[in-house]
Amino acid sequence: MKLAINGGNKVRTAKFPAYNFIGAEEEKAVVEVLRSGVLSKFLGSWSDDFYGGKNVQELESKWKTFFNSKHAISVNSNSSGILCALAALGLGPGDEVIVSPYTMSVSASAVLVHGSIPVFIDIDPETFCIEAKEIEKAITNKTKAIIAVDIFGHPYNSKEINALAKKHGIKVIEDCAQAPFAKRDGVFAGNLGDIGIFSLNYHKHIHTGEGGIIVTNDDDLAERCRLIRNHAEAVVDSMGYKGNPRNLIGYNFRMTEIEAAIGICQLDKLEALVSDRQEKVAYLEAKLSKIKFLKMPKVDKNCTHAYYVHSIIFDEDIAGVSRTKYIDAVRAELEVTEGREDDGVLIGGGYVKPLYKQSLYQNLNGVGERNFPFDPSFGFNVQDYKNLKLPVVEHLHYKALLTHELMRPGMSIKDLDDVAEAFIKVAENLAELK
Ligand SMILES: *Cc1c(COP(=O)(O)O)cnc(C)c1O
Repeated sequence: MKLAINGGNKVRTAKFPAYNFIGAEEEKAVVEVLRSGVLSKFLGSWSDDFYGGKNVQELESKWKTFFNSKHAISVNSNSSGILCALAALGLGPGDEVIVSPYTMSVSASAVLVHGSIPVFIDIDPETFCIEAKEIEKAITNKTKAIIAVDIFGHPYNSKEINALAKKHGIKVIEDCAQAPFAKRDGVFAGNLGDIGIFSLNYHKHIHTGEGGIIVTNDDDLAERCRLIRNHAEAVVDSMGYKGNPRNLIGYNFRMTEIEAAIGICQLDKLEALVSDRQEKVAYLEAKLSKIKFLKMPKVDKNCTHAYYVHSIIFDEDIAGVSRTKYIDAVRAELEVTEGREDDGVLIGGGYVKPLYKQSLYQNLNGVGERNFPFDPSFGFNVQDYKNLKLPVVEHLHYKALLTHELMRPGMSIKDLDDVAEAFIKVAENLAELK
């Protein structure tokens, strides 16, 4: 059968359905807030309004109950949540933070804002998360924290990593932006480390446009995050804060009442949306697993995966053609997604470039003339990013990882059949690509 990339007929000629789970409930909630005129009730001083308005507090209360966390603190993004968490934990100049190189850039760059140094380590070839074995090799007497990312929706190995962190007196920040409702040993992602940060940006499982939620079971960490979210320095004195006085320099990281009202509605939909992804991935995998050069993502024992994306490993040696050639041919068989036409067919090679390859790290451009905290004159132990080679992540990114989003809620069985048929058609006609 002639491949579409060589002029044959495409498997699919209609667009895939849009991913849109904003409905009448959100609309009603937003209109109510608009009519009230109170679009945010936060006040950056010690008062009843220091903790925000009705919707903000309701979202936080609902979130902590839903996820079984002692505290939930809303912020205006996961990125600001990570900044809060690092500050709340007392991070400072020269402290080292061990982090995955295969994640959204902010998981590492937030560290630099505090003058701390990101230390990148290689990832596990099957779960794509960082593992205890590599972390242990990177620990020094300056290591203060680990940022464990539940990448693609797979919970990090909290059993081993938490034990190691405890042994060395290191804190674990869990970036669970991609893993709401994923679980390990019955515990929700977000609660696996000392502090977890969700994202509610437009691209995530559920969203409020922009937004984030910090969760923790630690009372003092929670209060420090609430302070840092809302102008800490203007509040600590009148509040009578008795904890560690350091790092209490605040920002405005407050969520609006409109976003919170949307978040309350979205949270009701999360379980169904994640279960739907899990079912669709299982359906697709049953069909794709007969392609011998594709390996479906591993899910650790006692874990559930939230499938932010479906991450598949492509074996070029078995296929005999490159990943790029295979993906281009599969994409040519399929169609774009409604509302995301500019993104093309939602299948790609790799994820983000390994972070240490960014010019920020390659050229050590930090803050100000002396490039704080990188310049040797500061005396910090900066990792040699330029000569760093992490073979697993580089192989995955440049050669082997294939990610796609054609398993999102809204897709029908017929849509999934078309996706599987495209992968299989190209696999059965690889000779045409050689
Ligand atoms: C989306 C994402 C972020 C950033 O979230 P924002 O809410 O946009 O700041 C951070 N880390 C990971 C792993 C993400 O996927």
